[in-house]
Amino acid sequence: MDPLDRQVKKVYAAEAEVFGTHKDIPDLSLRELRQFGREIQRSAWWLGAFPARPTIPIKDGRGSEDARHQDGAAHIPKDARRQDVVIHEFCHAVMPQWLEWHGAAFCGLLLWLYGKAFGESVKTQVEKAFRRNRVIWDRRAAQFGPT
Ligand SMILES: [Zn+2]
Repeated sequence: MDPLDRQVKKVYAAEAEVFGTHKDIPDLSLRELRQFGREIQRSAWWLGAFPARPTIPIKDGRGSEDARHQDGAAHIPKDARRQDVVIHEFCHAVMPQWLEWHGAAFCGLLLWLYGKAFGESVKTQVEKAFRRNRVIWDRRAAQFGPT
């Protein structure tokens, strides 16, 4: 276990329960993924929450197995090209870097983002999966977003 990122495996497990693995959900093309990323960042709720935020580019993630956030960009390789992965990586992009990578603050904001992007029923499903996997999240961030 990474002592500086104690929840990472639990968070991944919870997300897999809700969104499935890449084997269950058809991958999007890089073009479709970027289109989704643009739609999210042009939405009224995103612009209201992150008004001064530079656009987060989506890169093709070549050479790495998992999606990751690096240098202000979301790197999403072939087997991870799903909308929920975009939201997860965007959440990393907007979180202050000094906070725990998949800590309570991240998980709270992630829930809020899932609710905005996919609706309340998906948010509730992820909340339940977080509970099953004993993920700790910030309830205020989950309800109010980045206030
Ligand atoms: Zn992550």
